[in-house]
Amino acid sequence: MILESFVKPSLLAQFSRAFALVFVITGCGYSLDSRLPDEVTRVESIEPALARERKLDFIKPVRVAVDTPEQAQKAIANQITRDHTDEELSIGGESGAMTGLYPPDIDLKLKTLQLMHDQVVAFYDPDAKQMVIVEGRNGSAAQRATTGAAMDELVIAHELTHALQDQHFGIQQMLERVKNNDDKTLALKCVAEGDATLAAFGLTAGGLRTAALESTLKRLAALSINPPAEQHDMPLAVVMPMLFEYSAGSRFVAEAWRHGGWKAVNQLYRHPPLSSQQIIHPELYFNRPTPPIEIELAGYNKLLEGWKKVDDDTYGELLLELLLRRNLPFDAPALSVVARWAGDRIITLQKGGQLTLLWVIAFHDEASAQQFAHSYSRILAHLGGSSNPHGVATRSAAVFVAIGPGVRDFSRLSEAVWKMTKIGAASVRQAAR
Ligand SMILES: [Zn+2]
Repeated sequence: MILESFVKPSLLAQFSRAFALVFVITGCGYSLDSRLPDEVTRVESIEPALARERKLDFIKPVRVAVDTPEQAQKAIANQITRDHTDEELSIGGESGAMTGLYPPDIDLKLKTLQLMHDQVVAFYDPDAKQMVIVEGRNGSAAQRATTGAAMDELVIAHELTHALQDQHFGIQQMLERVKNNDDKTLALKCVAEGDATLAAFGLTAGGLRTAALESTLKRLAALSINPPAEQHDMPLAVVMPMLFEYSAGSRFVAEAWRHGGWKAVNQLYRHPPLSSQQIIHPELYFNRPTPPIEIELAGYNKLLEGWKKVDDDTYGELLLELLLRRNLPFDAPALSVVARWAGDRIITLQKGGQLTLLWVIAFHDEASAQQFAHSYSRILAHLGGSSNPHGVATRSAAVFVAIGPGVRDFSRLSEAVWKMTKIGAASVRQAAR
């Protein structure tokens, strides 16, 4: 729940990030201007061309529905409510504010709805097995005249690729199988969005070619440097993972495509990347496979009696970077340690109305762990001061962080956690020897 809520598998799979491609590419709020019969015809005409480009056949045709923006918004809100209770969303927001990932008092549900409301122009619904197009409501007549048809084609091809992913790879089930690991979910979503983005480009460009691909990737990459949604008071950690799915996801999938065409892209669903780190550094997937280290955080029960575990998650390199960026100057040396992330596990405990967080972050070397611990102690001191008890300790190349009112005796707590926690195959104690 630490990751922005819309990155949750269920939600994400349901509304396959329709979040307009359009938005990604043009940065404008253009959306489809459509009437149902026209759209059905258009989708039907795009299907065979997309199947040829993507080299996958449609096992069955994809139904098309057209929603008003209000209907679409309602469907999204219902989905959020079905997948997450308000309590879960509020815990997700509060724990993210405690670590410094989100601004204080964030309303995660509201922010998610706002973002969706602004961006969704079409989506593929794997439950109903249909593509939903949101009726046009903005974009000037001039914009539509110049880019309308091409944009419609791009969006439809993108969503149809999600239908192919559903029919051939069971992408929704894949996402649902990932439990309590938003970083892993994000990596899988990057494959789905990157695939859909490239397939749609291939279709509209009359075939994917290296030169055109490079310029497209460059345009997508520019988004991560200058995220458009920031101007709408949208926290970076809410909007960036979504942009990341398109920009970094496309770059990652393009790497597979260069290696072996669409067949190699299909293989990504059989052996998906396991972390945002592998998406950011594709060589850690393709050349020197480096899966994240598994961490089993334990040993705290006796010292935190009455506290109940309400969430369990992994931040991963991307969120760790966003957290540091939110709290450090842009050129802070500590920012470089995120690339040395090796794995992490964060547990949210609840008692009464309060939360306590326990977090173990493993790095590939001790110096990075120490650098992170040093910077993060200062961030936490600044964030909560005395009203937010916390502690940070290192052992070997790992860092243990505890935040919240349950942290009364940090040294005892960290001793107990170091003793029982397993990092990779060996416990930390063994690793330290
Ligand atoms: Zn998509």
